[in-house]
Amino acid sequence: MQTVTAESPTTAATAADDTRELLLRTAELAADFLGSLATRPVPGSLTVDALRASLGGPLPESGASSLEVINRLAADAEGGIVGSAGPRFFGFVIGGSLPAALAADWLTSAWDQNAGLYVAAPAASVVEEIVGRWLIELFGLPEATSFGLTTGCQMAHFTCLAAARSAVLRGAGWDAEAQGLFGAPEIHVLVSAHAHATALAALQYLGLGRDRVRTLETDDQGRIRIETLRAGMSAVPPGAPAIVCLQAGDVNSGAFDPIADAIAVVRERPGAWVHVDGAFGLWARAVPSLGHLLEGVELADSWATDAHKWLNVPYDSGIAFVARAEDHANAMSPPHAPYLEYTARQQRDEVHWVPEFSRRARGFPIYAALRTLGRAGVQQLVERCCALARRIAAGVAEEPGVRILNDVVLNQVLLRFETEGGAAASDALTRSVISRVQDDGVIWLSGTTWEGVAAMRISVSNWSTTERDADAATAAILDAVRRVR
Ligand SMILES: *Cc1c(COP(=O)(O)O)cnc(C)c1O
Repeated sequence: MQTVTAESPTTAATAADDTRELLLRTAELAADFLGSLATRPVPGSLTVDALRASLGGPLPESGASSLEVINRLAADAEGGIVGSAGPRFFGFVIGGSLPAALAADWLTSAWDQNAGLYVAAPAASVVEEIVGRWLIELFGLPEATSFGLTTGCQMAHFTCLAAARSAVLRGAGWDAEAQGLFGAPEIHVLVSAHAHATALAALQYLGLGRDRVRTLETDDQGRIRIETLRAGMSAVPPGAPAIVCLQAGDVNSGAFDPIADAIAVVRERPGAWVHVDGAFGLWARAVPSLGHLLEGVELADSWATDAHKWLNVPYDSGIAFVARAEDHANAMSPPHAPYLEYTARQQRDEVHWVPEFSRRARGFPIYAALRTLGRAGVQQLVERCCALARRIAAGVAEEPGVRILNDVVLNQVLLRFETEGGAAASDALTRSVISRVQDDGVIWLSGTTWEGVAAMRISVSNWSTTERDADAATAAILDAVRRVR
């Protein structure tokens, strides 16, 4: 220590000035980018080779100034930045970033807190505590529900299903955390035929196998059939551990499983666990007029959702909720490591609730989003996106040969372009229209396969999307189909 020469005060002051200049310049670059979103082409403009060429090259031998690095990064990455933060991105289910959430995310990086333990990040711990309670209230989940802020819904599934695995095996006299799965009683897992890939991925990571699940047949909207669930549950041997995964908001159609009826069927088996994938659909709980879609959801055992989709906070932000905190902590708590200054649980140590140890303080952006929106703002955000989805569906449906494939109950629209020559010709037409819309670049959306046929899918999940953007989407789609036909 003694041999290190202290920097002169002048150098330290200069460094602070440089940092300030750098951050202000970065804010300017970010604001310029955000300002361009409403008008710039939505897809990136550069090919992968061009991006590699502009960003790549050998590892530099010596460094460059921070300001130079950031200016160049912004310029070189520009052609590979998709306008998914903007109002005309209708692909997947993405959501942008509310300004306050983005700003809080910047502070999160500046603060660089390790939000695994209270002692390392007290404000982060308390903020997580607060947003967890707020969300439990917003979603109408049982008061005792525990929660963890994860990187996304996939890891929220992982967290919830780890709690499920732990609880159903404990019920069968087996300690999964200590003993693993070798020799454990078999767990019967039932999932919708429309289950999101990430729910299956979570089962894959948890040693429950993504292919050994029993798949539940669905109706034309992608909702499980109660008779199929009943048959599936009867095939589970009496007393055997069982987990059922339901969907609240199908990624294509936005449809909801008949949750109350499904949970009633599962509850005939004491100890069976119900998990709900509500990645974006759970947010419909903020809207009284959509209440019927989620009736009974509070009776499940665990719920996974995202904040980086419909709440419009920056990546990465998912949330796992578990009805009984003990099941949750049993599955997630790391084995005791003596160097950790664990607090005696009067404070929240986040490591007990997530499959992470050192971690980002991702509660701050959620906190900022919820404080700027309030309950009414969340409701309006969800309502507005749903209304815009209906508006696009109605506009496109006026074109002859367009078939809307789903009941537009939420923010998702599925449609298809039909032509003479049968299903294959209509598949080809639909795919060509999707490519044409993507190439035109005014909006962006993607395709899918629905009930065996090609479909265009539209998701409205950005806070900044207006009626004008929705009408631009309708126009872009109709313009493309008229040129492709
Ligand atoms: C997006 C999505 C997921 C996965 O969420 P990530 O945050 O991307 O991990 C799971 N289920 C549904 C229904 C989704 O839409």
